[in-house]
Amino acid sequence: MEKTLYKGFRLIDGSGSVPTEKAYFVVEDKKITTLGSGKAPEFDGLVVDLEGKTVMPGMINSHVHITMEPVGDPTSLMIKESPAKTALRGTANLKKHLKAGTTFFRDLGAPAGIDFDLRDAVKEGLIEGPEFLAAGKCVTMTGGHGWFMGREADGPEETRKAAREQLRAGADVVKIMATGGVLTKGVEPGSPQLSMEEMKTAVVEAHKAGKKTATHAQGTEGIKNAILAGIDSVEHGIFLDDETIGLMLEKGVYLVPTLVAPYFIVKNGVEAGIPQFAVDKSNYVMKFHMESFTKAYKAGVKIAMGTDSGTPFNLHGSAPMELKLMVECGMTPMDALVSSTKSSAQLLGIDKDYGTLEEGKFADFLVLDENPLENLDTLFKINKVFKLGKEVR
Ligand SMILES: [Zn+2]
Repeated sequence: MEKTLYKGFRLIDGSGSVPTEKAYFVVEDKKITTLGSGKAPEFDGLVVDLEGKTVMPGMINSHVHITMEPVGDPTSLMIKESPAKTALRGTANLKKHLKAGTTFFRDLGAPAGIDFDLRDAVKEGLIEGPEFLAAGKCVTMTGGHGWFMGREADGPEETRKAAREQLRAGADVVKIMATGGVLTKGVEPGSPQLSMEEMKTAVVEAHKAGKKTATHAQGTEGIKNAILAGIDSVEHGIFLDDETIGLMLEKGVYLVPTLVAPYFIVKNGVEAGIPQFAVDKSNYVMKFHMESFTKAYKAGVKIAMGTDSGTPFNLHGSAPMELKLMVECGMTPMDALVSSTKSSAQLLGIDKDYGTLEEGKFADFLVLDENPLENLDTLFKINKVFKLGKEVR
């Protein structure tokens, strides 16, 4: 069996502990088998010297739409094209994440079960990409946020059924829409949508099946409804107040901020083909979004990195920009790295095998030219990406 010793690098293992200088590890059959520091042991396989480099875990992105194309108006494009074309897009997008240092992610909403097929195709080795968890269709009220690619459901019994349908189809996680959002015309980010009672039945079904739940939740009342319904992660969390932050702390609910989503909409604007309503809503929410993130972080809410890639100009592989924005909003660079590795792995429930570089875990790692704790920009030009011990070409 092929085995490789990597040695001489600075190791940021993803756990949040101080980096180890002159570290080494052995990769054997997709996993790290031996890890240490100082003088590397005698070795009879391939030896790779990474002197001067920094090694960290591959990033884990908790919020992606792999089938969405980040053009000005992704939803209009998606509605008019065939499922086969959408699947081909997803295939191309997978590689972009991998090359940009994301080695695992969670897809939170795709049409026609395409995400399940892509996920399985990666697992079978038919196509190359990060492994990922998939939600299938998001559960939304009739005419609610994302209805065009979701499963519309009204009333607690219908949302229960909608969740069961996604689980039957192969969902690893159930996505539930608690509020309006930016990209759906005619709905407001601040307004509640599915009620607490409607979300609760869906959450119960997911939990019974041993799966997690995530909610698109932007307005305060909807966020609170979702938390009280038992949700595992609040996605976006634009309008957080002290009460919702307190509830998140009390119940251990994660925040997946996706700060880059409105950022790229505001940055590119109507000139780039983004619908006026989406630009207006993003302009309005961006300041609150950043303030809410900072408040939640300072209060100690668990934060997992997510980008919402696939929204306008939010490219597949935008994770480094999300880290930069989180740091701009007051997060320490180390915490930004942990939110993108260990914390995301914990939220996804894959931390036994991924998220930190330790003996016995999968060898998903990045080789960086600089120490990201000193210069986060090094994540924009990653030297090498390894997925399950193999270098991504
Ligand atoms: Zn999303």
